[in-house]
Amino acid sequence: MKNIQVKKTASRGIAIAPVYCYQEPDLAPDCRGICEEQIPLEETRFEEARNQVITNLKELAEKNEIFAAHQEIAGDFMLQEGVLGKIRAEKKNAQMALQETIEEIAAIFSGMDDAYMKERAADVKDVGKRLMAALKGTILPDLGQMEKESIVAARDLYPSDTVKMNPDLVKGIITEEGGVTSHVSIMARSMNIPILVGVKGILAELTEGICVCMDAEKGSIVINPDEQTRAYYEDQKAQYEKVRETLMKMRNRPAITRAGKRISLCANVGKLEDIRQALEMNIDGVGLFRSEFLYMENTHFPTEEEQFEVYKEAAELCPQELTIRTLDIGGDKELPYFTFEHEENPFLGWRAIRISLEMKDMFKEQLRAILRASAFGNVRIMFPMIISLEELREAKAVTEECKEELRNAGQDFDENIQIGMMMETPASVILAEEFAKEADFFSIGTNDLTQYLLAVDRGNKKVSDRYDFMHPAVLKAIEQIIRAGHNHQIKVGMCGEMAGNVEAAKVLLKMGLDEFSMSAGNVDYIRQVIVEFE
Ligand code: PEP
Ligand code: MG
Repeated sequence: MKNIQVKKTASRGIAIAPVYCYQEPDLAPDCRGICEEQIPLEETRFEEARNQVITNLKELAEKNEIFAAHQEIAGDFMLQEGVLGKIRAEKKNAQMALQETIEEIAAIFSGMDDAYMKERAADVKDVGKRLMAALKGTILPDLGQMEKESIVAARDLYPSDTVKMNPDLVKGIITEEGGVTSHVSIMARSMNIPILVGVKGILAELTEGICVCMDAEKGSIVINPDEQTRAYYEDQKAQYEKVRETLMKMRNRPAITRAGKRISLCANVGKLEDIRQALEMNIDGVGLFRSEFLYMENTHFPTEEEQFEVYKEAAELCPQELTIRTLDIGGDKELPYFTFEHEENPFLGWRAIRISLEMKDMFKEQLRAILRASAFGNVRIMFPMIISLEELREAKAVTEECKEELRNAGQDFDENIQIGMMMETPASVILAEEFAKEADFFSIGTNDLTQYLLAVDRGNKKVSDRYDFMHPAVLKAIEQIIRAGHNHQIKVGMCGEMAGNVEAAKVLLKMGLDEFSMSAGNVDYIRQVIVEFE
């Protein structure tokens, strides 16, 4: 028996099953230099492999939108030019040129500060793997071939692997690489499969078929458990399943406390796919649409039209409520096509509303897109990082300008669209009473509010033990915000991570919070807290 403890976890659930070791074929490139005459042949080899992969991905894209993104990567000019350039100028064979180009592109993503963008390197590598297999004439293994219930252990699992998985057979996943925001993590969570990622060296510890127990929430793995340990995990599993069963039964219930207060139970999303998944949780709306993903996953600032299409679809998908936060870039979030000047303290620097108010044309494109989408649902606008009444007034004035332009152009929009603000800076707390007179709603962003109130960088591991949204200073600030909002009859919500925390939710309900918005995976748990709250 061997115990392994994993520090960072991001899913729930317990699994006890034999291990299925996912073996990758040898995809190491055959690295060879070539002579001038071989260039056309190597070019053709690469182009043929690329066409084959694109055709393949096109078919897969009909089943899952991840493959549409992969198809784009495979067809990307940068990838093509990178490989062909190495074949022509550096006289490398196609396999070597491909390997190097994929590493270079993946490194660009890995080097980004934002965790979400960092993980996009996995997509690039996934496409690279597919292209390499096509070049080598190798068949990639298929998780769809699995025949019995197992815990899958792998070096890493790519999106193309996970979509083939049969969720009835895959009881758990353990990978050596990957982070909690990687595709495999997201997919596993959405399929309710317990997963532990970044477990270095696990494959060397395992043999095919050996029994493993895992607790995805606590981060524990036991290889070849003794009888007593196995019985313990069986018991934990039964308890967990009971909880899940109760939660599932509750899903249809509206989020009303025992005292009769109707709470708005919402989801935080970044993409349309997130909305589709969150809707399964019977949400009351979207409390935070992080619009920056639309900007980050692009090669240019998305146009009004491009944004309108997305917001409109989101509004139609979620007619209950769709709160779109205007661009919150800067800080740890960068854009691949826009150079931010180096800043000593980016979180205290040029970010969010500060950028929007300065880059007014870009801001207006976004506002017009949101306003136009408001004709198709119940859309709300939310401004991030506000520190002064002047900022809020200016942002509202720009929105008015956009409304006027749309009116003149005969475009429909919701004349009474609600305009609210994130409460995530110390200044917003101190001026909460004043802000409540001019904003239609508040949403507390505890991720930033905690870091700014406690002077603790939210992404710095060295001080992560000091980063605590239950700190009395943060709790007092939240109380103050809720009181100020209610004094002026506006609703106060929360879209920071704290809203999805079971212990915190009880405290927040006591304080009178009206709306809880969180990652979809937490909705069931918070609903239970709400309906059981006296
Ligand atoms: C927050 O700061 O709490 C928040 C929800 O916004 P973000 O995490 O995107 O900064
Ligand atoms: Mg924030």
